[in-house]
Formats: sequence, C-alpha cells, structure tokens
Amino acid sequence: MQLVFATNNQNKLREVQSLVPNHIQLLSLGDILCIEDIPETQPTIEGNAIHKAEYIKNNYGFDCFADDTGLEVEALNGEPGVFSARYAGPKRDADDNMNKLLSELADKDSRKSQFKTVIALHLNGQLHTFTGICKGEITTEKHGEKGFGYDPIFKAEGYDKTFAEISLEEKNKIGHRGKAVQQLIKFLGQQA
Ligand code: IMP
Repeated sequence: MQLVFATNNQNKLREVQSLVPNHIQLLSLGDILCIEDIPETQPTIEGNAIHKAEYIKNNYGFDCFADDTGLEVEALNGEPGVFSARYAGPKRDADDNMNKLLSELADKDSRKSQFKTVIALHLNGQLHTFTGICKGEITTEKHGEKGFGYDPIFKAEGYDKTFAEISLEEKNKIGHRGKAVQQLIKFLGQQA
C-alpha cells in the first residue's frame, strides 16, 4: 500500500518510514510531483492538518497524512498556536520568534505552555486525526543548540533542560510529534 506523507522533509519521512508496517510504502510530496506550497489557511492546528491531507487527496488522488504543529502559551491565550512559524513575521525566523515570545512573557506570572501536533490521515475515504501534546514551560533565556524552532526556550514537564539540550531520541520519546506519530503507527498497524 502506498501512502503519501505531506512533507518534503526527508528526515521526517525516513524516521516515520522506519516505524510503519512493512507493507506500507511512504511517498513524499516530491515523489508525487507536488511542488506547490500547500496553503495553510485554516485558523486552527487541526484545521491545517486536515486541510493539507484533503488537498492531496482531492488534487492528487492519494491516501495521505499531514501534520501541523504549534506552541500554545497559557498566558497568551494559546498564542502563537497556529501562527507559531510566522509569529514574528513572514520571514519565519526562529530567533525572532523566540525573542518576541520572551518579550511578550516578560511581565506574565505563568510561563506554562504546550506543544501540540495534529496528524490528519485520509485513508479509504475516511478521515482520522491523532493528537500529541507535550506540556511544559517557557524558560526566561535560550539554552542549547540542538533541535529547531522554539526548542531553546521550551522545557518539558519534569525536565530541567530545554528541548535544545536533550538528544533527539529523548525528544521523540516525550515530544508532541513523537506521541502523535506513535498513535498513527499503532492505527496503521491495525489495518489489514
Ligand atoms: P510545523 O507545522 O511542523 O511546520 O511547525 C510549525 C512551527 O512550530 C515551526 O516552524 C516551529 O516554529 C514550531 N515547531 C514545530 N515543532 C517544533 C518542535 O519540535 N520544536 C520547536 N518548535 C517547533
């Protein structure tokens, strides 16, 4: 069975391919000659994941799954959320995004936050979603060089290191994307 993972990120693709059952062959957007930017126009993380999966099904005919992730900060009413990538502007610069978040939180009492990943799967005419959440808090300064995005300012609950200071294996075990992917894999494993 062929299933499109709506990503051009070869690392994500390889990682998930190594985890899905052998009879499922994952294809990237490049493999199906989809070179356009799939619009992320929805107001929620769930909405964007579903929109991307449906876009591929409707325009390319493949069963497909797509992911979308955001960082939700309690004291900012869930922001940056669906706008996480472009929080500080269209440049999508991780440093600018972190600086903006640190300054927005400077006078706030709570630094509680969570990463949320939603994976939407379009399979055999049905839509399924899988959500992975990692709770934690925003630090007051950046720490660490690993990872990407907001990793240097996010500490998972029970950890005294940021996501940018722990290994990828450890992040995958406790992280939002890893949790959503595990649910997807379990579900795919149950399909005949
Ligand atoms: P995407 O939906 O995976 O493209 O994620 C959207 C944005 O959320 C990214 O551009 C990052 O700013 C942020 N983000 C997503 N996942 C992570 C993560 O694991 N660590 C830190 N930031 C992340």
